[in-house]
Amino acid sequence: MLEVKNLHVEIGGKKILNGLDLTVEKGQVHAIMGPNGSGKSTLSYVLAGKADYDVTEGDVLLDGVSVLGMEPDERAAKGLFLAFQYPIEIPGVATMTFLRTAVNAQRKARGEEELSTPEFMKKVRDTAARLEINQDMLRRAVNVGFSGGEKKRNEILQMAMLEPRLAVLDETDSGLDIDALKIVSDGVNRLRSPERSFVVITHYQRLLDYIVPDVVHVLSRGRIVRTGGKELALELEEKGYAQYVGEAA
Ligand code: ADP
Ligand code: MG
Ligand code: MG
Repeated sequence: MLEVKNLHVEIGGKKILNGLDLTVEKGQVHAIMGPNGSGKSTLSYVLAGKADYDVTEGDVLLDGVSVLGMEPDERAAKGLFLAFQYPIEIPGVATMTFLRTAVNAQRKARGEEELSTPEFMKKVRDTAARLEINQDMLRRAVNVGFSGGEKKRNEILQMAMLEPRLAVLDETDSGLDIDALKIVSDGVNRLRSPERSFVVITHYQRLLDYIVPDVVHVLSRGRIVRTGGKELALELEEKGYAQYVGEAA
């Protein structure tokens, strides 16, 4: 489903990703772990198509087609979703309106009919209830005044509404207490299917107790330096990242 090949990325002339390779098959959950500053968020932004990131070498393929020339909304229409590490606030735009616009824009881009008001309302209410999101939150401006945990939960609500084929979750666990972590993980696990893949980025092992990955990668200085099974996360928890930082240096 996703193939990242020898990806080199610079921001303002500073090299951040350094020949990164990653292949994610349909239905798989891959975890990417790594020290702060190793390039995890940069990878997620480049996948989503954020501006100002210069890809100097390599390619990113979704279902065998390069997405590097595509705008973020085209990538979203193809089923790519990014949950931000630091969700942005959008004053003046109600969460409900934001979700409806996003869902219908995606349907339109795919040549599908827009959801009617009752259809949309049912879907958003059911999804929010499942994620234990208060209906009041849907009327509030996107992320404005939300707690850290509420912002992360709102990212998962967006993901559940958009039903992506490939979801990238960037440190969704940061700022979540244990109860919220369970709710968010449960939301992700319900969306797991043979047709849907996930790239779960995390600094800590804890999230992976709840979202059990098929493959774990260690990212250090802009490259994947080690790949293993879920036991690799436990080893990292025990030994830390020091050995990999040394290796890359
Ligand atoms: P991680 O998510 O693993 O903590 P990031 O991808 O956020 O790492 O950052 C990787 C490196 O790129 C860091 O050294 C960071 O300072 C640098 N970096 C990230 N964004 C920018 C930017 N917009 N301009 C310059 N340097 C940046
Ligand atoms: Mg970081
Ligand atoms: Mg980051």
